[in-house]
Amino acid sequence: MIVKKIFKLSDLMVAQISAGEVVESPAGVLKELLDNSIDADATDVVIHVNGDGFDLIQVTDNGNGILMEDLVPAMTSFHTSKISKPEDLLRIGTLGFRGEALGAIRSVSRVTLESRTGESEQAWKISAEAEYISDPEPGIIPNGTRIRITDLFYNSPVRREFQSNQRRLLKDMTDMVTDFSLAYPQKSFRFFSDNEIKLNLTSVKNLTERLKQLFSIEFSHGLIPLYRDQEGVAFRGYISGFQFYRNSPSLIRFFVNNRQVKYPRLVGLLRSVYGELMQPGRFPVAFIFSEVLPENIDINIHPQKKEIRFKNEDKFYELLRSVLLRAIEGRGVIAATRLQNPAKPVFKSSENDNDTQTFNLPINWEPETHEHLEKESPFERFEMPFPEMAHARLFKTFVIASSSDGLFLIDQHTAHERINYEKFLNSLTKQEGVKQYLTQPLPVRLTPAEKEIMKKEHHLFGEMGFDLEDLGPAGFVLNSVPYYIESGEEENALFILLQQLANKNQDRLSAIMLFDSLAKDLSCRNAIRKGDDESVPNLQDLITGLSKCRRPSRCPHGRPTMIFLGKTDLFGLFKRKI
Ligand code: ADP
Ligand code: MG
Repeated sequence: MIVKKIFKLSDLMVAQISAGEVVESPAGVLKELLDNSIDADATDVVIHVNGDGFDLIQVTDNGNGILMEDLVPAMTSFHTSKISKPEDLLRIGTLGFRGEALGAIRSVSRVTLESRTGESEQAWKISAEAEYISDPEPGIIPNGTRIRITDLFYNSPVRREFQSNQRRLLKDMTDMVTDFSLAYPQKSFRFFSDNEIKLNLTSVKNLTERLKQLFSIEFSHGLIPLYRDQEGVAFRGYISGFQFYRNSPSLIRFFVNNRQVKYPRLVGLLRSVYGELMQPGRFPVAFIFSEVLPENIDINIHPQKKEIRFKNEDKFYELLRSVLLRAIEGRGVIAATRLQNPAKPVFKSSENDNDTQTFNLPINWEPETHEHLEKESPFERFEMPFPEMAHARLFKTFVIASSSDGLFLIDQHTAHERINYEKFLNSLTKQEGVKQYLTQPLPVRLTPAEKEIMKKEHHLFGEMGFDLEDLGPAGFVLNSVPYYIESGEEENALFILLQQLANKNQDRLSAIMLFDSLAKDLSCRNAIRKGDDESVPNLQDLITGLSKCRRPSRCPHGRPTMIFLGKTDLFGLFKRKI
């Protein structure tokens, strides 16, 4: 056997080898160029592609431009203006940062780079091919940057041969421009293929307008808006109602900080959220934008920056899941199908309440009193359909109702529970005197453990309106209870509270959280039960009560209060046009 000598690879070969990681296709090249235009704050981007992109990819922008003396460094691997010290890697605020795209592209194509900064008298241009770079010569563009890439992969024929499906390549490039145009609706994008304009996306106000530009109006009307800004993660975007679907996941697009990335769990998540409404083999349309603090993600795990790692991925997933559920719920798509998809820990309500059996909490549920107010949505306001007229009762359980938007089935128990709960919450915020004194002090027996809790959390009981007096050897007496507690329920309420304190393993529980769980418990007890004929309120009152609620669509424990079948959906199901 002949032992071969080891040689150092030339810089060009190193560049070519590593170029494969950075750019593997015309669409990949285009992505890097668009990243650069966005990072340069361009507001107008023009893309020209010839053939399948191997012949020509040219991007012209009106961004900040490149200094003449930086033209050569810009085209050299590991040169960047975007980061300078190791800490910068921890909070990346630009799309590019690795400084390797233009260098890599240059090693596998012929490149011309032309640019003019605001201060410069004129544009300057350089050309490069393999290791050779020309001297700067005067250019013609009025401002910004133009980069022209020809003969892509001319020196790596294998890569070129592997990608011979022209339609596919063009589609990938069109999708790339579409993604950027969605992420940056206020910027304008024009995409030419063989000098024919394929996309003419002028600057628009917001994502909604962009979607109308890209897709049919009818389609964009069928989309359900998402919006949530909480716990350090903001979500916005659209998902399709169930009458719109695709046969592939191609229109499921996911963005983090305006960067389109892969999120492998997303398709499965959507499927679980749509449940039966999305038949196998069908996929919803979703444009989901999330914003996360740069320090909470790591984008530097893939040379093409296509993948992302979250600091707390499970949390992110749960937040997204709750946003999606809520969005679909707002549209009232039949929630029952989803509740059969057990995913979350179960919540067990008080034992003697057999109507409220074990069920799944839909989301990472927190007391509503803790919820931050949602910021104004950047989208046009989405009005939730709401029942107007009650018609009848079905199975002694549901109320059939309608509005001009569609048909509603209301669960009388959960609806009533919701109404009661919000009454409690209102009384809390209004501070209508927290407690009521009992006509006679009520002796209560406490176990030693309960006494411990009592002593430790004494102030909490006080804040909530429970006035407990320690009579030493004679035990405790209850002098007052929160005013919303009905007579006969006093002791019970106290024990529910003690139970909650004993069960929670958190060190500190705020009065508000306790109040919240107590309010939930009591609103459930006081609500009409399934099959209960005697205490049925006027059906119309139930709707009026719900309409006054801040969150009418779910009971305080998270079960749906009503199911909505929209007019569009209803007609669609019968294959009718409205
Ligand atoms: P990165 O984007 O990671 O910094 P690139 O190789 O893509 O690396 O680009 C190198 C540098 O060239 C950038 O840091 C930027 O300063 C400059 N540059 C590239 N394209 C443009 C553009 N369209 N407008 C202004 N500057 C650009
Ligand atoms: Mg770049």
